[in-house]
Amino acid sequence: MAIKAQKGTKDILPQDSFKWQIMEDTAKNLFKNANCKEIRTPIFEATELFSRGVGDSTDIVNKEMYTFIQKERSITLRPENTAGVVRAYIENGMHRISAPVKLWYKGPMFRYERPQAGRQRQFHQIGLEIFGIEQATADAEAILLAMNYLKALNIAKLSLEINSLGCPDCRMVYRDNIKAVLADKLEEFCPDCHTRYEKNPLRILDCKNPKCQELLEDTKVQEVINADYICESCVSHFEELKSYLDLLNIEYSVSKLLVRGLDYYNRTVFEIKSNALGSQNAVCVGGRYDKLVETLDGEPTPAVGWAMGMERLMTLMPDIEEEKLDIFVVSNNMKETIKLANNFREKNLAVDFDLGNKKFAKQLEKASKLGAKFAVILGEDEIKGNFLTIKNLKTGMQEKFSFDEFVQKI
Ligand code: ATP
Ligand code: MG
Repeated sequence: MAIKAQKGTKDILPQDSFKWQIMEDTAKNLFKNANCKEIRTPIFEATELFSRGVGDSTDIVNKEMYTFIQKERSITLRPENTAGVVRAYIENGMHRISAPVKLWYKGPMFRYERPQAGRQRQFHQIGLEIFGIEQATADAEAILLAMNYLKALNIAKLSLEINSLGCPDCRMVYRDNIKAVLADKLEEFCPDCHTRYEKNPLRILDCKNPKCQELLEDTKVQEVINADYICESCVSHFEELKSYLDLLNIEYSVSKLLVRGLDYYNRTVFEIKSNALGSQNAVCVGGRYDKLVETLDGEPTPAVGWAMGMERLMTLMPDIEEEKLDIFVVSNNMKETIKLANNFREKNLAVDFDLGNKKFAKQLEKASKLGAKFAVILGEDEIKGNFLTIKNLKTGMQEKFSFDEFVQKI
């Protein structure tokens, strides 16, 4: 039996790869203009990086990692890339560069999940991290770049939700209050939430189980969720962020339910959704993680960042047509053709020709089918007379040119 792609993995086929290139090129240009440099880290890392860096009470670490032992070492295919970027930041002494250090990345991530629409086992993320700045300017810059990127991709109907999780001190109060109010009803929550209750109770708010979501609707629970618990300095950090967003005309709403699935966030968390497909769709999730660098044995360094799922971006990008060929050379003289095509390509034109030496008419048909702008006809007369017959495939007009004249013209 023929070998198939593994469950939860997908080929990116020629008809789609140009869209991926647009996503990548757009990121490259936009982030370059913001002095944000690309970082490429390895696809596999020590398992411990993720158990410590992502947190061993998360679904990612508990259920979703591709881990294998090689020569007694536990290795994991990266399920996300913040931990890897932080490892690289520490290992390469990037704290010595004057802050901020602004990095972006793109690439495949691996999670053992049940595949479904928009959920794969190998998927791609694009992300950005800003190190070294505690002030909300960094949060604002991160959000601004995410919004600009989505806008540049023409992704419509974006909405931004923000929240502040407070710092470890004030979060403790919130955590205790949530625990207290959920204690009576804990039995009715799903088994995962029982574990969360012990390890990271805030994450119960993030549970996808409909029954748990319903239980959270309870007025007493809602009262705790909506109470203002964050300390003064966290409040002013959050207010500062909001003032930057206002200044930049970035609309947002505050959502107290926004807690994020990862352990390492503090203060700002945010999510950008696109309602273009009707249902709510998180395309970008991010936040501040001031303790992560320390957790991974680096110098204490505040940081903020985000990640976007590229498959999801793909489904939200408007339909675009791939750029077509400039020229298709039609000829029965393959030696002259390959030379001519190459000369055009050196002038930065997109050129193809028939490698199989089919009949003239077939070649012309192919030129049209490929959507080439011009068919360059190179018959016996043209070769002898050292000119080219150019057929404009949109208008059907035919004209004679020398090579240089034609290159000038287009
Ligand atoms: P979810 O709650 O949907 O599982 P998550 O909290 O696991 O999301 P993050 O780890 O924050 O997601 O990843 C950020 C983005 O990466 C998501 O918004 C989504 O677009 C994308 N993503 C996460 N897991 C997958 C996957 N298995 N397949 C495709 N995209 C994914
Ligand atoms: Mg997930």
